[in-house]
Amino acid sequence: MKTALIIDDDATFRRETYRLLLGAGWRALEAEEGEQGVAMAMQHQPDLIICDLLVSRFNGFQLCRTIRAQRQRIRQPMIVLTSSSGYPTDRLNALEVGADRYLVKPLKQETLLQLLEGDTLYETDTVPKAGQPAPPPSTAPVTPMNRDPFVRFWGVRGSIPVPGPSTVLMGGNTSCVELRADGEIVILDAGSGIRNLGLSLAREFQDRPIDVRILITHTHWDHIQGFPFFIPAYNPNNKVQILGYEGARKGLLSTLSSQMESPYFPVSMRQMPSNIEVKELREFEFSIGQLRVQAIFVNHPGLCLGYRIYTSAGSVAYLPDHESYQRMRSHAGVASTVDQAELMKHTSAKDQKLVEFLRGVDVLIIDSQYNDEEYKTRAGWGHGCVDDVVALALMARARQLFLFHHDPDHDDAEVLRMLAWARELVSMQGESLVVDAACEGHKVTLKAGQPAF
Ligand SMILES: [Zn+2]
Ligand SMILES: [Zn+2]
Repeated sequence: MKTALIIDDDATFRRETYRLLLGAGWRALEAEEGEQGVAMAMQHQPDLIICDLLVSRFNGFQLCRTIRAQRQRIRQPMIVLTSSSGYPTDRLNALEVGADRYLVKPLKQETLLQLLEGDTLYETDTVPKAGQPAPPPSTAPVTPMNRDPFVRFWGVRGSIPVPGPSTVLMGGNTSCVELRADGEIVILDAGSGIRNLGLSLAREFQDRPIDVRILITHTHWDHIQGFPFFIPAYNPNNKVQILGYEGARKGLLSTLSSQMESPYFPVSMRQMPSNIEVKELREFEFSIGQLRVQAIFVNHPGLCLGYRIYTSAGSVAYLPDHESYQRMRSHAGVASTVDQAELMKHTSAKDQKLVEFLRGVDVLIIDSQYNDEEYKTRAGWGHGCVDDVVALALMARARQLFLFHHDPDHDDAEVLRMLAWARELVSMQGESLVVDAACEGHKVTLKAGQPAF
């Protein structure tokens, strides 16, 4: 009897696949997270592994690499990676790390049965079109306990920095947001905005050590390109901890180091003298001092996270790159051969999970790259549109929304038009959600229970 291992955090998907496997005369095993899945794969050496790309603790890319590295020790299974998105780059990466198949959910029963029968599998699901000097050691680090907690925007742009006269108001630097609360300094992403933040920290702390955590959502260049210019990382008395989840092809440290290799940059990451630690996260909930952090995979090519940070003055959610699952998959250019009702059920459940993740958040900073008209030709590029973002914020009952990750083609006037439209959408629904466009240099003071300004 052949054995299949299903690794997926969606209990409904596991149950339905389990039944189908039993009906086809297979023995079925289940794991709800990746680490457990890998252990079971090593122990039971199944003939087939069906694993969701974004399963928690050990994602599908890591699973493939781990299993394929054991060629000499264990019998090699067929590995099928599944995804709710179907980004072309994910498909390429999946095959590159050793997956035999990459299938887009929801899966049709016939597709699975073909797989079990060993037939040549026709990948019937279509995918979206591709878019695209050391001060002396001092005492303990200064912690700004006596300051009001705040969020400050240092880079609000997506894709590439666009400084110039047409972006003076919003700013041209790529993603970087500073959060100070409960004695901690947390930096969200290391786009080009982190350069000015580093200079500001160095001025503020003078010869006292700085202790910061940098949370990386994903390793697309607009989210890490500023790190080589982060001045505090060159001071051996400072402590810089970089937290994130593994990149699609290589580990986090390897991806961050690559952009500092000699053809691109004169100083390698190893040569940076500060106390730098790169930590790959496995858990979706962890603490930074008194701050509680939750993470969630969002809809963007590769592995991309959104974070929600709970402070004593309310919570802040940061999702710089995300596209609505339902809008993406229901768009004409992203057709699927599966039943439409089934597709809508699957995608709305994915969107609903995000609504629950954001429920009651005080400050929501989220990808609003496109207006509704532009979105029609850019569905499947992994970015949000204003209409969807406002709808999401209202459903989650967020208190304050910041449009973020402005498109490099949008000048200040266009961002202001999009902001006006977002506010109109809110007032048309008689809601009180406060909406603003994230603007470089803007400081948002956090006050528990009130909108922050
Ligand atoms: Zn981005
Ligand atoms: Zn990205």
